[in-house]
Amino acid sequence: MNIELLHHTPLTICSNAIRTCWQSFDNSDNGGEKDKALIDRVGNKFKHSSTLEHLNYNFYIKDISRALLQELARHRIASLSVKSTRYTLKELKEIEPFKEDDFEGASKFIVLTNNELVDRASIKALNNLRDILKSGVSNDKAKYCLPESYKSELTWSINARSLQNFLSLRSDKSALWEIRELAYKIYEALPEEHQYIFKYQIKNIKNQK
Ligand SMILES: Cc1cc2nc3c(=O)[nH]c(=O)nc-3n(C[C@H](O)[C@H](O)[C@H](O)COP(=O)(O)OP(=O)(O)OC[C@H]3O[C@@H](n4cnc5c(N)ncnc54)[C@H](O)[C@@H]3O)c2cc1C
Repeated sequence: MNIELLHHTPLTICSNAIRTCWQSFDNSDNGGEKDKALIDRVGNKFKHSSTLEHLNYNFYIKDISRALLQELARHRIASLSVKSTRYTLKELKEIEPFKEDDFEGASKFIVLTNNELVDRASIKALNNLRDILKSGVSNDKAKYCLPESYKSELTWSINARSLQNFLSLRSDKSALWEIRELAYKIYEALPEEHQYIFKYQIKNIKNQK
């Protein structure tokens, strides 16, 4: 999978929002150590977490399965714009059928699990779908036989409070392996000076390494 951070809110927006409550703007050091400590104290330790909602992150997420997408979509406090299979399945009409062991070729369209039985079944499903599309069935009907492994991509926007919740739930070892990988990569894609806000949520996955 591929994660790109498209945009993020500067830390000073959050620290100034906090300073609004006490009108202590003069104490700001423009997103330096003082402001960072204030965000940690108020947003994390004092549990005045709504102040973290002023920080927003916009990601472009590529090459995840529809299985993962289904789980990601459960996080309601976030916004998703997803590549539409209704409009884009025609890309499959143009390809030759894959050999059942052509994992590398098929990985352009499906997420591989490294379980040969499963991955071969995904390739069969991909070839079936291609044949159905070639026979003239519309995308709206053909999409119902997409395998869960079919790759998707999306723009994902989320605020820091909700991202803490996401990272905490999805970096846990009880989460699906693919969404755990996503959680870790999302954390890595964050600006370094923001990562400290999330370090308590992401620690599980680091401990497992
Ligand atoms: C290990 C694991 C296994 C799972 N297994 C299943 C499963 O088998 N079946 C299944 O259906 N789901 C499953 N889920 C999904 C899970 O139930 C949540 O839907 C998902 O993790 C999103 O969490 P969330 O509601 O906290 O996030 P968000 O929807 O982003 O919500 C963020 C926070 O906002 C608040 N909030 C949002 N909406 C409301 C509301 N309507 N009322 C009150 N407070 C609200 C809550 O505090 C919530 O934590 C699983 C999740 C995990 C991590």
